[in-house]
Amino acid sequence: MEIPFHKPYITEDEISGVVDALRSGWITMGPTTVAFENNFKEYIGTKNAVSMNSCTACLHLALKAIDLREQDEVIVPSVTFTATAEVITYFRAKPVFVDIERETGNIDISKIEEKITKRTRAIIPVHYGGQPCDLDEILNLARKYNLSVIEDAAHAIPAWYKKRKIGTLADMTCFSFYATKPITTGEGGMVTTENDKWADRIKMLRLHGISRDAWKRYTKEGSWYYEVIEAGYKYNLTDLQAAIGLAQLKKVDWMWQKRKAISIQYTEALKPFEELTTPYVKADRESAWHLYVIRLNLEMLKIDRNQFIEELKNRGILTSVHFIPLYRHPYYRDILGYTVDGFSASEWFYERVISLPIYPGMTDENVQFVIDTVSDVARKFRK
Ligand SMILES: *Cc1c(COP(=O)(O)O)cnc(C)c1O
Repeated sequence: MEIPFHKPYITEDEISGVVDALRSGWITMGPTTVAFENNFKEYIGTKNAVSMNSCTACLHLALKAIDLREQDEVIVPSVTFTATAEVITYFRAKPVFVDIERETGNIDISKIEEKITKRTRAIIPVHYGGQPCDLDEILNLARKYNLSVIEDAAHAIPAWYKKRKIGTLADMTCFSFYATKPITTGEGGMVTTENDKWADRIKMLRLHGISRDAWKRYTKEGSWYYEVIEAGYKYNLTDLQAAIGLAQLKKVDWMWQKRKAISIQYTEALKPFEELTTPYVKADRESAWHLYVIRLNLEMLKIDRNQFIEELKNRGILTSVHFIPLYRHPYYRDILGYTVDGFSASEWFYERVISLPIYPGMTDENVQFVIDTVSDVARKFRK
């Protein structure tokens, strides 16, 4: 058996949706994109949802909306995808890394305050693997120091913090519809916010900085006349992608149930193994289960994390590592001058983690095969 790390769940719904959009004669941003935004808004329970061609674009324009400036600082976790931090550098502002919690992989809230300076403008917490961060503490700190909170929720649809859905709690929330994410449009993203002014500015910036509803200029209700208000970007979604998104959104809860069920199967079966630790979710929240991340107890194994991954691969299971801490990458290390200093939890975490396959298309047989294989490797290489 060969189990890929991820497979998007695509059915006739997505396929016929795209075909309908193709036949409609309107293939870039238009009525289907608007319908996707409306349904997304309703699903999350928020006032505004603005779609874009990636979560990275959403994060970028969210920082534009708060008017980030050169030399400003933005706090991000040290263990995340580069997108979270790279958007800050677009402004010649500085990403300030904060170490993570060993148990969850989320930003360590006890280490944020010491990193806040006069230049700090925002915090971008990442809901690692789909488990919400300690949002109340983060929002309290933000209030105290007058900072914006922009959630990187690339992994977190759907997820709940104290019974409230992610996407409604911070100033802005950015979701990803990249191929491997909980719902996909191939590429795509959505930013949600209660703030109409930010939403309007982001809508204007995502399509060339043209005054409102630029996409309507080729419709009957639109007009050929428009005004460019700012130097904008080409960040819009297309109706072809939105058609996929509409179909995915219809099964977002079902897909979550499937992932959650797999996570329970994995945890029940793997918990007895002292060679590894299964994921820990805090009591007052629900993870989206975008990732299922085990941690190796290296003291009890004869092999390291990389060798464990190779052993799984040789037996037909493809896994991944989330994430290489950002300060380890040449760009953040050489250009921004980061070192491992102050990131002992990130280093500890990075040495131990493996993300196992978890997606709705996995059969019971697939899940059992992953369990048997991980168990086998743990047994074979235990000290
Ligand atoms: C995938 C991902 C992103 C970027 O999403 P795109 O839609 O590919 O731009 C941002 N942050 C995190 C944590 C991610 O995993």
